[in-house]
Amino acid sequence: LGPPGSGKGTVAEKIKELYGLVHISTGDLFRNCIRQNTPIGQEAKVFIDRGDLVPDELTVRMLAERLDNDDCADGFLLDGFPRTLDQADALEALMNKSGFSLDVALNVSVPDRMIMERLSGRRVCPECGATYNIYSQPSLEPGICDVCQSELTQRPDDKDATIRHRLDTYAVRTAPLLDYYEQQGILRSIDNSGDLAATFAQLKEVLPQ
Ligand code: AMP
Repeated sequence: LGPPGSGKGTVAEKIKELYGLVHISTGDLFRNCIRQNTPIGQEAKVFIDRGDLVPDELTVRMLAERLDNDDCADGFLLDGFPRTLDQADALEALMNKSGFSLDVALNVSVPDRMIMERLSGRRVCPECGATYNIYSQPSLEPGICDVCQSELTQRPDDKDATIRHRLDTYAVRTAPLLDYYEQQGILRSIDNSGDLAATFAQLKEVLPQ
């Protein structure tokens, strides 16, 4: 959990490395569907481009399919899901059905003022998925991916007006999940406003060994 721009993706990559878990980002799943122009991609694109959440029914259906894959049998890490209370309920039902339970809900927080800079400066490689930031983590050659030399792009939903809308949506629809998981006793929080080493040190403190 965490607002857009809090660095969930980066933190998730680290957790994946530490625990050997499959990293499932619903945002990435949607972007793949859009790239491949699947029916889910066509339906989701309209919502994503204007910074709205994709409807719960479609999102849960896509996630349930993904969790059915064999690579999820020993556990998984969700990034960007659930984002609404209804999704959290749907996740609980899915988990109960398959005999899993959630170990931790991790809240990645950063002060609001950092979020706009992070998101408006974000550039991504459409080919290999590498992520950069023109302010804090630029590519060696401006606009070109260090890894595969493709031209970097800005996500359509990283434009200023859309970013503000995504932040409002987070506050109204997703932030209530913090209480939801706090009440279940599994909420852990880290602050991701400093350098990555500081964030990763906190991670090791709050996650199970
Ligand atoms: P992200 O990469 O996590 O920032 O997600 C990008 C966009 O995909 C979001 O702004 C939403 O439009 C959509 N999306 C991702 N995950 C969800 C979700 N769990 N529920 C609804 N929409 C989602």
